[in-house]
Amino acid sequence: MNDASVTRRYRFSAAHRLHCDGLSTEDNRRIFGKCNKPNGHGHNYVLYVTVRGPIDSATGQATDTEALDRLVHEIVLQRFDHRDLNHDAGFAGRTTTGENLVLLVWDLLVSRIPIGRLEKIGLIETRDNYFEYDGLALAAGSAGA
Ligand SMILES: [Zn+2]
Repeated sequence: MNDASVTRRYRFSAAHRLHCDGLSTEDNRRIFGKCNKPNGHGHNYVLYVTVRGPIDSATGQATDTEALDRLVHEIVLQRFDHRDLNHDAGFAGRTTTGENLVLLVWDLLVSRIPIGRLEKIGLIETRDNYFEYDGLALAAGSAGA
């Protein structure tokens, strides 16, 4: 059976502030730069969700993009769009970095993909920042490798 990947693009806007309570004011400024400014700021995030699966011989499709869109809207976009990420329970004890955001989105979606399997989460935060998570380290760890 031939597998193929399908990537859907979504957008949401959210606020955050990168800050570690355990670090000094100077260290927070040094590590997080502009993203540490006290009152937070927003990003227009672009989210890529990639699903991989066998190409169905009848439909020629590897997933159901309408079902995927419904899922991502319900589980991810409604949760984060026009919200302050620092107040989201998924970030309790974690900074709201792009790395942690792709990890959280992966965790929210991985067991719920309607057809096919989640292959990759990509996230554009700014013109120059792109984050990616594919769960491979996790899968390898659970396989005892
Ligand atoms: Zn930021």
